[in-house]
Amino acid sequence: MVGGQADVKLVSNAMANATRRKIMAMLAEKERTRAEIAQAAGASMLDYHLQMLKQAGLADIRDDAVSLTEFGRNFLNEKADKPMQAKKDLSGTAPLQITEIRQLLPCIADASKFRIIARIEPQLGGALKLLEPLFARARYSERIGALIIQKGNVLITLYSTGNVTMTMIGSEAEAQAVLQELKDTINKAIASGVTPAAREKVKVDHAEVYKYLPKTDCKICGEQSCYAFAIRLVGGETALEKCTPLQEPSFATSLETLRALREYL
Ligand code: SF4
Repeated sequence: MVGGQADVKLVSNAMANATRRKIMAMLAEKERTRAEIAQAAGASMLDYHLQMLKQAGLADIRDDAVSLTEFGRNFLNEKADKPMQAKKDLSGTAPLQITEIRQLLPCIADASKFRIIARIEPQLGGALKLLEPLFARARYSERIGALIIQKGNVLITLYSTGNVTMTMIGSEAEAQAVLQELKDTINKAIASGVTPAAREKVKVDHAEVYKYLPKTDCKICGEQSCYAFAIRLVGGETALEKCTPLQEPSFATSLETLRALREYL
């Protein structure tokens, strides 16, 4: 492993996946057989995951035995010594070079829209959290390690690993434009090197919440109507989870948006 640009990319791609991280953690304990790995991490796409680790130089595969390479072991040790540090400012953060669309998937809630899977590089890692004030409606989630940005109906989730998802996008051209705007905004902040100043968040009102509810007035939530539910939700007197119809696949995008809006209530 020479540690060049391509190698760094292979390693970060290999470690961006939860199954592969799990396999690495297993291998850190001892050498494993394929059957042991399949039992603990799942047999689905096991060959692919192992190949990704091998190509990145992290794991060695001999017949049925899988083990860490020396590079893989050093990589894990280094990571354990230096957990991802929360950055204090943007100095030293590399500007985004690549923004590319990987997949356009049909949006479950609206057949005329797309769900986009994209990629930005280099990864923003610990700097991502500092970017929250750049956007009027954005929140950083420690749980998933991602910055969630709302722009109109579009919900953008920017993961510290470089993966990006966008919902309710009208076309590939729109997705490109959104990505470009994101890249320009972030790179402008990185060029200044300082943390963006905290910005007052835009508040959400009940009319906006109502827009994303099923509007069937079914009363399952215990309220007389969806509008009444929206008012009580904004007032903090009920919980989003009480609207069980929102769990249906056809409302998946609305639910995702409402969860993001809830953060600003
Ligand atoms: S459960 Fe949901 S869909 Fe039914 S009335 Fe309440 S908010 Fe509306």
